[in-house]
Amino acid sequence: MHAPSLPDRTMEAYTDVTAHDRLEFLHALADDVDDVRVLHVNSTATGGGVAELLRSIVPLCNDLEINTDWLVMDATDKFFEVTKAMHNALQGSGPPLTDDMKATYRTVTERNALELEDREAEYDLLILHDPQPLGMLDRLEETMPNVPIVWRCHIDLTDPDDEYLAFVSEYTNRVDHAIFSRTGYIGDTDVPETSIIYPSIDPVTEKNRSLDAKTVGTERDRLDPLSFEKPLVTQISRFDPWKDQFGTLEAYRRASEDIPDLQLALVGGMAGDDPEGLELYEQVAEEAAADPDVHVLPDLPDTGVNVLQRESDVVVQKSLREGFGLVVSEALWKRTPVVGSNVGGIPLQIDDGVNGYLVGPDDAAGAGDRVRDLLEDDDRRAQFGENAREHVREQFLLPRQLEELLGVIADELD
Ligand code: UDP
Repeated sequence: MHAPSLPDRTMEAYTDVTAHDRLEFLHALADDVDDVRVLHVNSTATGGGVAELLRSIVPLCNDLEINTDWLVMDATDKFFEVTKAMHNALQGSGPPLTDDMKATYRTVTERNALELEDREAEYDLLILHDPQPLGMLDRLEETMPNVPIVWRCHIDLTDPDDEYLAFVSEYTNRVDHAIFSRTGYIGDTDVPETSIIYPSIDPVTEKNRSLDAKTVGTERDRLDPLSFEKPLVTQISRFDPWKDQFGTLEAYRRASEDIPDLQLALVGGMAGDDPEGLELYEQVAEEAAADPDVHVLPDLPDTGVNVLQRESDVVVQKSLREGFGLVVSEALWKRTPVVGSNVGGIPLQIDDGVNGYLVGPDDAAGAGDRVRDLLEDDDRRAQFGENAREHVREQFLLPRQLEELLGVIADELD
């Protein structure tokens, strides 16, 4: 296993965006567990929400004087093929689980676990993230019998493939504690005690930090021919059928009937190794080409995403299905109201009629009407924007997540 390099992060950076009480409480919690040594294990150092979360949480815990390490598993391409199938199957459907796949999983997880042999004295608590490192348990139970193990599950196990669920349950039923992102995501998973910790956005990253007028101006120029003088609606999502870019186009067309100079920006990450995403991108781009006010923007850097989220009049997230949909909090944090579907974690973030609107996942026309309502009422948009900022400050910023994680650590070691 290897330790990824970490950015410098201190709690100091969060003082401007976090209530004083919350920071004091965090320090008090940290004082309770300050001689504890914690090890996080996951399977990737970059890309994906888990790595992003650890990149912030690990240095912050150390800043709070909780000795925290992060190790990333060393694995083969074959292992990642198995765990990708596992990930897809646990969230819905995947290929049949073969003995060969199980053997690959066990061999790699055992090899990684062996690296922790003789290190029991170094740690008081282990946190394994997602299904990839779970197989390490077999060996860890022998080599670290006295170190409690917490499993942090970041995926949705509401409707898993039974065979895969049975396979991972052989491990999950032996951890000391499991953390899920929503109550519904536990499904029928065989776990002992559980906690729910909602995900969060990190307000100090390039994507979410506040920007000075000069940076905003430069980015706005870069986004030309998009105009910030005309009304603008944006959706930022991977090109994935569940994100329903076509539904967003339909909502935009509906709202354009009343707001003729309306523009739509569809921003989407394009992973080179995802042929499905590329195909969908091409279809969306083809449909958009007929309308000069629709802008399809693949691979926008984080500063560009930041500027679009804060400078759009309304953000839309018309997903048909969603994990948590943190892109909603990202926009709300920048005081932009969001019209989103009532699926996954979106209704936790949008307070209907307070900081945005919720619509049914199949209701593109309803989404269009809500976008129009917001565009026609500057005061409502401004008020929703202020409400949005406070809602995210209270519930979806990193310090809240850290506070809850420290609570679990304290309980586990009690
Ligand atoms: N994202 C981005 N550029 C894109 C598309 C998405 O930076 O072109 C980011 C977005 O800002 C958010 C994340 O990818 O941070 C998507 O997370 P979310 O929970 O909304 O959805 P997921 O993609 O995990 O289903």
